[in-house]
Amino acid sequence: MHILLVEDDESIAVSLTDGLRDAGFTVTHAATGAAALSADPADAVLLDLGLPDMDGRDVCRVLRSRGNVPIIMLTARGDEFDRVLGLELGADDYVTKPFSLRELVARVRAVTRRAGSSARGTAVLDVGGAQAIGLLEIDRRTRRVRLDGAEVILTAKEFDLLAYLAVDPGAVCTRTDILENVWDVNWFGPTKTVDAHIAAIRKKLGHPGWIEAVRGIGFRLEQPR
Ligand code: CA
Repeated sequence: MHILLVEDDESIAVSLTDGLRDAGFTVTHAATGAAALSADPADAVLLDLGLPDMDGRDVCRVLRSRGNVPIIMLTARGDEFDRVLGLELGADDYVTKPFSLRELVARVRAVTRRAGSSARGTAVLDVGGAQAIGLLEIDRRTRRVRLDGAEVILTAKEFDLLAYLAVDPGAVCTRTDILENVWDVNWFGPTKTVDAHIAAIRKKLGHPGWIEAVRGIGFRLEQPR
């Protein structure tokens, strides 16, 4: 699958390109809106909102006027980005920086699957909705978590960690995966940091069973039995 990555930040572009290639995608990188609009057609577009020459919204509008390629907007926290307007412009989904590669890959697979299996229009209706794992609801758009309807207040890092584990509920995430994706690719600090955050989330969720430790490997998120 061929992805067009439109991102002017060189360090983000390089690490995303490497990561997406490792995940099996072919990546073309465009650093400006003009380059994006003259690039070859792709199977999906990752589009940074803040570009040096054009507003990402305009790039989105033009790409959309040409066809049905799935578009995921890459936004920064604090960007003036209106989700509804984004969807009206024709974006299929968006992620807020910082995001993990794993989460992005999951979103790319989801939008391309939807684009392949259903007509546009119906496809966007479920975008931005909260993910439910049993009684736990994780809304990445608003960064809110609810448990059995009651809001759970998490710190930014706790939220990122929970959202990361929730990308694939039941799957084991290693400490290294977690550190690289939730903290930083170049994190060399103590891995105890992960354990401390896991402990805090468990406490806030009121049941240690939500996040199971898999001895010597890592953690998995599951509805407690
Ligand atoms: Ca930018």
